[in-house]
Amino acid sequence: MTDTTVQSAPQQGFAPETFEYKAEMKQLLHLIVHSLYTHPEVFVRELISNASDALNKARFRGLTDNTMLDNGAPLEIRITLDRDTKTFTIEDTGIGMTKEDLVGKLGTVASSGTLDFIKSLKEQGTAIDGNMIGQFGVGFYAVFMVADEVTVETRHANADSVGLRWKSDGQGSFTIEEIDKPTRGTRISFHLKDSAIEFSEEYRLKSIIQKYSNFVDFPILIGKNGAEAEKANTIRALWQAPKDSISADEANEFYKFLTHDFQDPLGYVHLSIEGSVNFKALVFVPETPPMRPFTTDNDKSLHLYTNKVLIEENCKHLLPDYLRFARGVVDTDDLPLNVSREITQSSPQMAKINKVLTSKILSLLQDWANTDAEKYTKFYAAFGQQFKIGINSDFANRDQIVQLLRFDTTQTEKGSLTSLKDYTSRMKTEQKEIYFLTGEHRETMLNNPNLEYFQKHGLEVLLLTDPVDIIVVPSIPEFEGKKLVSIDKADVSVSETEETKEPSTLDSALLALFKDVLGEKIEDVLPSKRLVDSAVTLVVGKEGLDAQMERMMKMLDKDFKGGRKVLEVNMEHPLIKNLSRLQLADAGSPLLRQYILHLYEGALLIETNLASPALFVRRMTEIMTDATK
Ligand code: ADP
Repeated sequence: MTDTTVQSAPQQGFAPETFEYKAEMKQLLHLIVHSLYTHPEVFVRELISNASDALNKARFRGLTDNTMLDNGAPLEIRITLDRDTKTFTIEDTGIGMTKEDLVGKLGTVASSGTLDFIKSLKEQGTAIDGNMIGQFGVGFYAVFMVADEVTVETRHANADSVGLRWKSDGQGSFTIEEIDKPTRGTRISFHLKDSAIEFSEEYRLKSIIQKYSNFVDFPILIGKNGAEAEKANTIRALWQAPKDSISADEANEFYKFLTHDFQDPLGYVHLSIEGSVNFKALVFVPETPPMRPFTTDNDKSLHLYTNKVLIEENCKHLLPDYLRFARGVVDTDDLPLNVSREITQSSPQMAKINKVLTSKILSLLQDWANTDAEKYTKFYAAFGQQFKIGINSDFANRDQIVQLLRFDTTQTEKGSLTSLKDYTSRMKTEQKEIYFLTGEHRETMLNNPNLEYFQKHGLEVLLLTDPVDIIVVPSIPEFEGKKLVSIDKADVSVSETEETKEPSTLDSALLALFKDVLGEKIEDVLPSKRLVDSAVTLVVGKEGLDAQMERMMKMLDKDFKGGRKVLEVNMEHPLIKNLSRLQLADAGSPLLRQYILHLYEGALLIETNLASPALFVRRMTEIMTDATK
């Protein structure tokens, strides 16, 4: 069944069966109870949200399965408070749980990395806030912030299900026993700890519900000590409401309820589309990616409703991959209700909705980019990597995506980014191409010898530090008629007026010696037009790859041998002139050969491609010993 240890033999009927929590779960529970003490009130939201999920499932199943237990029973959530006994009870008429659910879902943490993740947050000193708990997929256990022992009584919607009671102190183990429960759904009850007594107050509970759960799509009824229950939420399927009738606050709370995020979203679009496809949608852009560890962001997406009935959670076909950071709800009457997922996925309506949503989200982003740079920068920091890959997949919207790309450059302040449009508006009149350099860190890149010419002549160069850029940028051949070129390439034309001066005999002799010393290590040796302060640099000729691309290939394949590079030599550099003189005096000097090798390895070192730093340092020591004799 699961890897939970069964302590006593299963029995029919009465004696409770005991299950040990897995070691990881125990530690997790300990952390929850002892670290997540801020915002204990979120336990209400988590329990209501689970009840609402269960009711959604029951509502959907009831549409197609008339053998379901209690089909037709009102779908609602009831909370009963008893101040005298300090008891809190929440009951739903949802789908209920089988024994397998109780053991495998309620008693087990969904993602196996959750514990490590929470521990690492703690170690980094990140404040862990009770508000975050839903993100970790253990929302139910928030209840142990306010109770020492919890009882769950449940009966699944299957016609042949049995009533079950689950009980736990949230520490070592839980028990399950069969009970007599005639009706479908789940009832969770517990005594509030002394520190949590406030949650037995009706006004307190109401305010929590209004804050977190107002738009739950089922009535939440509060009763106390036998009094008539009263509805605490206003039930609005917000996405169905006219645009002007909902406030940003309401929309934000809806977002938090839906996603378990604890922060407001960056923004949202609220759509009501009529025409060749009809749908309503409320789609949010989060401020940061979800913190759930070890689940890719792609697990999350928009929820698909048909006329307020949830038919598919995280429906991936509503958005292209690169926009799947967006979260929210899409509701359409255009799909048949009892559809199978396969039909939903391949339906033309789905493709149309996807197309409209894509264009609306791109417009929202464009709007931020135009009017609220700070917001757009936040978005780009959080989701830029994911967003960029749209270049390689969404050809219809390519131009718009290109407009939305942002880059670090040699002329931007650290931390601020520029668009290609801004770059071209700053281009010098004689500049014909857009230059870029790939690398790992802005700081080291700024010292790259290949930049010297560009820096000296005030030519702006894009600094591509995101590994994704290596895939993205080469697939943009040009922008506004300007080619994008890597300055790591040997054939980059650095100057319009460059005349190809024949190297002098002395220069040719030295270059020939470089070739002789370096031999097979390099593709060629050429006099450089781009170097200003440095003596030599490596550039990409016919055989090689960008330094960054090469590093990436090496990461993927240890044995990857990058192609050979071209060594460019700055013939004006004093050191090179000195070498020329040395050569004239003693063409066979072994020291001269050492110097050349050392220069070459220094260039490799800058690329972080030097295989043996130890040899390099030994040679340097020899050279310095010699020079200081
Ligand atoms: P999450 O909701 O993120 O999966 P929880 O710890 O809140 O994590 O709940 C674990 C699981 O227990 C749920 O996914 C669901 O299968 C089950 N569950 C919790 N509460 C209920 C409920 N009221 N009715 C039916 N199933 C429930």
